[in-house]
Amino acid sequence: MLNVPSQSFPGPSSQQRVASGGRSKVPLKQGRSLMDWIRLTKSGKDLTGLKGRLIEVTEEELKKHNKKDDCWICIRGFVYNVSPYMEYHPGGEDELMRAAGSDGTDLFDQVHRWVNYESMLKECLVGRMAMKPALPKDYHEEKKVLNGMLPQSQVTDTLAKEDPSSPSYDWFQTDSLVTIVIYTKQKDINLDSVIVDHRDDSFRAETVTKDYSYLVHVALSHEIQEDFSVLVVENVGKIEIVLKKKENTSWKCLGHPQENHNSFIPKKDTGLFYRKCQLVSKEDVTHDTKLFCLMLPPSTHLQVPVGQHVYLKLPITGTEIVKPYTPVSDSLFSEFKEPVLPNNIYIYFLIKIYPAGFFTPELDQLQIGDYVSVSNPEGNFIISQLQELEDLFLLAAGTGFTPMVKVLNYALTNIPSLRKVKLMFFNKTEDDIIWRSQLEKLAFKDKRFEVEFVLSVPTSEWSGKQGYISPALLSEFLKRSSDTSKVLICLCGPTPFTEQGMKMLHDLNFSKDEIHSFTA
Ligand code: FAD
Ligand code: NAP
Repeated sequence: MLNVPSQSFPGPSSQQRVASGGRSKVPLKQGRSLMDWIRLTKSGKDLTGLKGRLIEVTEEELKKHNKKDDCWICIRGFVYNVSPYMEYHPGGEDELMRAAGSDGTDLFDQVHRWVNYESMLKECLVGRMAMKPALPKDYHEEKKVLNGMLPQSQVTDTLAKEDPSSPSYDWFQTDSLVTIVIYTKQKDINLDSVIVDHRDDSFRAETVTKDYSYLVHVALSHEIQEDFSVLVVENVGKIEIVLKKKENTSWKCLGHPQENHNSFIPKKDTGLFYRKCQLVSKEDVTHDTKLFCLMLPPSTHLQVPVGQHVYLKLPITGTEIVKPYTPVSDSLFSEFKEPVLPNNIYIYFLIKIYPAGFFTPELDQLQIGDYVSVSNPEGNFIISQLQELEDLFLLAAGTGFTPMVKVLNYALTNIPSLRKVKLMFFNKTEDDIIWRSQLEKLAFKDKRFEVEFVLSVPTSEWSGKQGYISPALLSEFLKRSSDTSKVLICLCGPTPFTEQGMKMLHDLNFSKDEIHSFTA
């Protein structure tokens, strides 16, 4: 399906291509790069064949458009004519054709739900799916479904109320405060579980429990002050968001429901929500990698959970382009603390700038004070994987180091059972090693931590390990502190590195539960 990242990455001769069992990327013809596509969309050419009209598409109509030169696909209720895009799709024409003439939402979500197809394909938009009235009686009598999308007017409280396992919310007030209480009906929640964004009068609190998202989304009936607090009562699964009234008047209602208010839906079916963050600093870390610090807007509560990533979005020649990045701490020595508002307003990223890349040179061009949009977090690492752990092994290649930063900080600070943390860090040259001196200092300071650098293109002076990830390197490195010790091995790097590493670990008899690979 749609795929934004450059199809030619990694370069043809790169090790990153070796034995990739990952999603295939098909070589594109000359003149069919992402930039060429953006140019075509800006050319004014009629890409839908409808001369700018938008139509309502019935299922029967959609089915008819199932050929390469006449291919319509529905994503979240919107229908696109993707024929003009075929040759530009990095995943190849065949992958797009799998959804020809049908609803491709699930296929799209499986591969890259984060891709900003609305912007990429806006010139290919044919229209919306026509509403079909059929829906089971036990749901809601009057509800109509627009393939994958509820019509705006029917965005009500009903979905959540009818499911007894769904979270619910309530609110109460004093003279000066309004407290919104979310009952998640889950015990394993914390301050990471809720994301709050308040802009103008729109108030949005998204609670993520397991794979579901519960949304409170209202236009507040009265003005509130910029700062608010978020409290979590973990053992009863209750979240309290305490807002400060601007005026001490009594509110008759909390506000008016907005899109998807009080909905409880699988996380994979929710769109990614973005807020604009300001670049506050940018520091060189290596010759090509920088530490970016972004500041969240006021009236935002967002904590990216350990091991998760976000998407950064920038308009590039008029099209919104999105790429994933993993937040880190500002340094290896910032002790892991439960961040609490208002100090937790900064998000740090270690980002490698690829001179021939599409996104990172643009990011590098940003000036202090410029804005970049940051999404809600995503990812499948769960902090409980670290509970009662004794040995933590981290295998990182290049910027695959980024998820390891918070994982190792968290483990060293919060896991009393931990005996050792060992990082094997693969890079081309010594100059490419991110935070080398910090890693060495940490190893000196904390006897539980060890680091080993492996270089693929070392100079003749390098006396350390060299080469690529291999069974020999791994079996020597991955020594348990006891035969029965609880172990976790985390892997992250170029996709083929991660895939080869996984296979080697299975061959070395580590179980699935003992391995976590970071992927998109
Ligand atoms: P791309 O356009 O994708 O190009 C990347 C490379 O391919 C460059 O070397 C470029 O020169 C080469 N290339 C591009 N086109 C061609 C061509 N036609 N021929 C030959 N070579 C070509 N990265 C980080 O730095 N930090 C992170 O924290 C981070 N976290 C991530 C988290 C996740 C979950 C994932 C999946 C990836 C993460 N990445 C991270 C990688 C990041 O998302 C981008 O892939 C990366 O920044 C490259 O983006 P780009 O658009 O600049 O480069
Ligand atoms: P890099 O510098 O190109 O590579 C780092 C090291 O890994 C080099 O020694 C390199 O060797 C080696 N390597 C590359 N491909 C290999 C392979 N197939 N087998 C064995 N060794 C291999 O790395 P980078 O440019 O920083 O890229 C980092 C990658 O990590 C990107 O693909 C990024 O998308 C990914 N990443 C993923 C996440 C996530 O959460 N999923 C987070 C951050 C980064 P040679 O170059 O000498 O071949």
